[in-house]
Amino acid sequence: MEPTDLNSNRTDDDESHPTARRIQRLSLHLTPVPRPLDRTHPELQALTCASRAAKLEVDTKSLIVCMRGKHRDVQEKVFEFFNSRPELQTPVEISKDDHRELCMRQLVALVREAGIKPFRYVAEDPAKYFAILEAVGSVDMSLGIKMGVQYSLWGGTVLNLGTKKHKAKYYDGIDNLEYPGCFAMTELHHGSNVQGIQTVATFDPITDEFIIDTPNDGAIKWWIGNAAVHGKFASVFAKLMLPTHDTKGVSDMGVHAFIVPIRDLKTHETLPGIEIHDCGHKIGLNGVDNGALRFCSVRIPRDNLLNRFGDVARDGKYTSSLPSINKRFAATLGELVGGRVGLAYSSVSVLKVAATIAIRYSLLRQQFGPPKQPEVSILDYQSQQHKLMPMLASTYAFHFATLHLVETYSEMKKSHDEQLVGDVHALSAGLKAYVTSYTAKSLSICREACGGHGYAAVNRFGSLRNDHDIFQTFEGDNTVLLQQVAADLLKQYKEKFRGGTLAVTWNYLRESMNTYLSQPNPVTARWESEDHLRDPKFQLDAFRYRTSRLLQSVAVRLNKHSKTLGSFGAWNRCLNHLLTLAESHIESVILAKLIENVKSCPDASSRAALKLVCDLYALDRIWNDIGTYRNVDYVAPNKAKAIHKLAEYLSFQVRNIAGDLVDAFDLPDYVTRAPIAMKSEAYSQYTQYVGF
Ligand SMILES: Cc1cc2nc3c(=O)[nH]c(=O)nc-3n(C[C@H](O)[C@H](O)[C@H](O)COP(=O)(O)OP(=O)(O)OC[C@H]3O[C@@H](n4cnc5c(N)ncnc54)[C@H](O)[C@@H]3O)c2cc1C
Repeated sequence: MEPTDLNSNRTDDDESHPTARRIQRLSLHLTPVPRPLDRTHPELQALTCASRAAKLEVDTKSLIVCMRGKHRDVQEKVFEFFNSRPELQTPVEISKDDHRELCMRQLVALVREAGIKPFRYVAEDPAKYFAILEAVGSVDMSLGIKMGVQYSLWGGTVLNLGTKKHKAKYYDGIDNLEYPGCFAMTELHHGSNVQGIQTVATFDPITDEFIIDTPNDGAIKWWIGNAAVHGKFASVFAKLMLPTHDTKGVSDMGVHAFIVPIRDLKTHETLPGIEIHDCGHKIGLNGVDNGALRFCSVRIPRDNLLNRFGDVARDGKYTSSLPSINKRFAATLGELVGGRVGLAYSSVSVLKVAATIAIRYSLLRQQFGPPKQPEVSILDYQSQQHKLMPMLASTYAFHFATLHLVETYSEMKKSHDEQLVGDVHALSAGLKAYVTSYTAKSLSICREACGGHGYAAVNRFGSLRNDHDIFQTFEGDNTVLLQQVAADLLKQYKEKFRGGTLAVTWNYLRESMNTYLSQPNPVTARWESEDHLRDPKFQLDAFRYRTSRLLQSVAVRLNKHSKTLGSFGAWNRCLNHLLTLAESHIESVILAKLIENVKSCPDASSRAALKLVCDLYALDRIWNDIGTYRNVDYVAPNKAKAIHKLAEYLSFQVRNIAGDLVDAFDLPDYVTRAPIAMKSEAYSQYTQYVGF
């Protein structure tokens, strides 16, 4: 239905019922077809580059095919299940305790009634596991995290750090939720610095047991998901202590994981020696029962050591295939990267939901307009496009990058190829940090872009924002993770000068380092034609040049400062530089993946849409960092201006197909169920919600 002038079809009835008039007026804002831009009016022409913009025809169905992951069927099963069970849907208003119970009921129903059993996919088919996680997280993010704690964290430690005997004993109970469990790593005094944890597991050769102890309050396990209410077991990370015959009495073998029963399987009573407290009401994710655990001489059988990377024999002798504490620690944490992969992937899903709600609303919402003309869609304001169109382009870029991460992770799980392990480690750290930070910022932008209606809880930005916020911190704090990426880049940089091989993801450095070491080309620095600026080679070269330059300069600075400050001090002196380097590298990886996906897209109309999105992503990023490029004359002043103009123009073109682009995310109504993102019939839900 074409929107009409807001005043033209007013009736006497409307006049006598101001409420009905208001609803009618508002419902027009929610009519699904966007008002076409009035190209005849001078103000609107000045507003955009409309005269140059021929609207692309997008075949949404083909684009959906290009975007769709392999496991849509299982996701649909999840949505159908929850759609058919209203009593299992999370209401907008719910108390913490009710939410926790509902979340547990949701998970049990998913596994036992819908027959969706995520655990087997953790090991067998991680891509399918992440697809389930994504769908379940869209139902309620608390449910997604609760599921992640059970299967990826507690179950994942048993599968990845344990051996056959552990799988034989615990697999079924974890799978069917008879053994709900926790992942107990973080302590009150230590979160990011895992090697600093103080909980100890001392071997007692007389009884053939480990004794788990919390030596001081700082070592209380804190924030542990599933601990406050539902958990029966915990995989507890502790320093393994072996008795020695010297004066020290014990030897510290480093951090290991142990299975510790925390509640009685039948009575659910807390077991002796264990103290459990509730971490309380949180900013978000209140369906997850985070708790604190203290251990006082808790005895567990020697078999409960998850012994894949290190074992203790009956006589107390320690064996490991890895030669040092650091190597064992790295191997242990390396097995846990799946959590990061899942968070990066789910974060993109949150971004898709938020962008869809904000863009659909912005297409339908009308405010102001030229004198005596109908009001215009708020997405026709350049400022609104500036907020939302590069975000939409980024969402596409992140979609392909995280899909690639999931595929590489799955390949690594099959092949255990050493180079892939290194690659996935750095890529998952970088993408998790970059994408979750971006999404967190975007959620506030989307809320604001929807004005007052964005603030109504029923329109979802509050829960999305609050539930997602912690993605920046858990499974590795983003600032800490980016440093791991930077450290890896520096390692690769050293390798390059030693003539060694580079990991796949960093291969580009070989070429671009050489380019960096020579001065920017003064001729190409002036090229400003649209063809050149939209050439993937120009875009990738620019991204990679920046990374190489940052890498080269930070290496020099670190070298200089380490002479006076030592390596820790020098690192800290260059920390912001290192973080910029890591982000720059990740942006290069994201762009490279997007370019690859544009090229390989089989349908011409979808390819054209993706190319538009890709160019906007690339030029917007270059423009955001234009100072860096100008400082070294990588782009001349006129070229900088051309980049800016073209980015704005592309933003407008993307606006023209924004409705198609969000439709191609193919999110079921169940997921984007915010009334302001729905068609006019559904709008009545919104008015009913507030009591009309
Ligand atoms: C809702 C929720 C659920 C959780 N679930 C679990 C769970 O199930 N199991 C579990 O074991 N843990 C869990 N955690 C804990 C979580 O993993 C930690 O909070 C996280 O690892 C960060 O540690 P921290 O809180 O000690 O932060 P800190 O490490 O103290 O970080 C605080 C600040 O210091 C900065 N910082 C720290 N180190 C550096 C550095 N080297 N360089 C620069 N800046 C630095 C960080 O960037 C951050 O801004 C959960 C936490 C929450 C809030």
